[in-house]
Amino acid sequence: MIPKLLDIVYWPDDRLHQPCDTITKFDGDFLERLSADMILTMLHNSGYGLAAPQVGHNIQMLVMLTDVMDDDPLVLINPEIIEQSDSPFEWREGCLSVPGYFETRKRPNRTVVRFNDVEGEIHQTEFIGIWSFVVQHEMDHLHGKVFVDDLSPFKTKRVQEKIKKTLKRMR
Ligand code: ZN
Repeated sequence: MIPKLLDIVYWPDDRLHQPCDTITKFDGDFLERLSADMILTMLHNSGYGLAAPQVGHNIQMLVMLTDVMDDDPLVLINPEIIEQSDSPFEWREGCLSVPGYFETRKRPNRTVVRFNDVEGEIHQTEFIGIWSFVVQHEMDHLHGKVFVDDLSPFKTKRVQEKIKKTLKRMR
């Protein structure tokens, strides 16, 4: 199986604003294939994470790095936050669906997530700092939320112009 690059869905596409279905079937190679394609697409675009709705699948699945040198990214299916710290971690938030736009944001510094792997096995992992930030960002996607959804109309226009310009440069 050779993974292939997938097309990214760009904000404010409707497909980014729908809650995603829970995955209940772990028996085919669909999940295996899609996660491999998503990992390739994430790495190719220098992303730290990618959620299924960003490639047009409204299902509860995301892939992410857990280390900047990571060559074996993590696949999280049906992720659920079960613990989170109060202390914040500040980072420049960005998104492959919002190319060229970044904004400094704070999110909890520690997040414990329970999830299934592609075989349906249950895991529990603690994410700290950047990785806590990333897992929360990607999980927002699974709830139909993008980090630029709540900006003022003025800023929204600026983000849309920025995306257009960045995509033009990429093509
Ligand atoms: Zn994103």
